[in-house]
Amino acid sequence: AKEQGRDCFKVFTNKMLDQAVMLMTMEQEMRRGVQGDEFFLVFQPFVHLHTSELVGFEALVRWRHPTRGLMPPGAFIALAEETGAIIDLGSMVLHKACAAWVAWAEQWPAVRNTLMSVNISGRQFSQFGFLDSIRTVLEKTGMPPERLKLEITETAIMEDAESSAEKLSRIKEMGIALSIDDFGTGYSSMSYLQRFPLDNLKIDLSFIRLMHVSQENMEIVRAIINLAHTLGMEVVAEGVEDASQRRTLQELNCEYAQGYFYARPMPDDEMRAFLAGLDQE
Ligand code: C2E
Ligand code: CA
Ligand code: CA
Ligand code: CA
Repeated sequence: AKEQGRDCFKVFTNKMLDQAVMLMTMEQEMRRGVQGDEFFLVFQPFVHLHTSELVGFEALVRWRHPTRGLMPPGAFIALAEETGAIIDLGSMVLHKACAAWVAWAEQWPAVRNTLMSVNISGRQFSQFGFLDSIRTVLEKTGMPPERLKLEITETAIMEDAESSAEKLSRIKEMGIALSIDDFGTGYSSMSYLQRFPLDNLKIDLSFIRLMHVSQENMEIVRAIINLAHTLGMEVVAEGVEDASQRRTLQELNCEYAQGYFYARPMPDDEMRAFLAGLDQE
């Protein structure tokens, strides 16, 4: 038993060491990647649920890693949060998203009424210089603040609800729109929710997927939509993949939708083709 115990200990430490090395390697690679411009954005349109009219785009980051290939955010965002690399990465995402919107708006007038929606991680949001970093990006890119929307997760907002309320109000004063992202996957205090100056609520795609699996799930989606409306927020359903989901969400009075049913996330060149097509209509 003693031998076995020692082996367990050895396996355990090696595993920990591996993880630490992996974390450090990834951290270095990520910092180098930000410097070397290995990260880029794809954009997914979101629309009015009743008219299918274009409302805006969500910017989603991708990493073109020199040896590991194309990596989705699920493979590095959590790590970037843990190591702090998210601060530089997040600023870069905000800058690229605004720069892309401004370039499109110059070329296609239809873009000028749309929103560019950017994901903000918890650590980025709670960071001391966050408001200044937004101001800097707006100035540098010429992005109109009222065309920018920030998506902040329920978990990030609730972490320090008092200071979040204050910070969100300051962002709102700048004219920027605010979404609570991944709603339903975290824990929200109802009393706080009504104090946040949020424009809309995004229902996590896990709920949309389950909506037609059982009546209960459908009722959960209905309850979330009604709650949002009671609190003066509009609702965006993410992950809408088929016409029956669209119809149900229309019946539930959800305002906006995003998902493969409408469009997949697209890199800049595809977005340009998409926007050129819109202008012809
Ligand atoms: P999210 O903010 O909830 O974004 C929606 C995710 O659902 C995206 O995955 C999108 O590609 C995917 N999606 C959209 N429509 C559909 C659909 O109809 N079906 C399915 N199955 N999926 C759909 P993606 O791009 O892999 O991003 C995953 C998560 O990574 C995002 O979830 C967000 O939390 C995070 N993320 C992405 N970009 C950034 C970023 O720039 N900064 C930060 N902090 N987080 C980011
Ligand atoms: Ca989002
Ligand atoms: Ca989500
Ligand atoms: Ca409101």
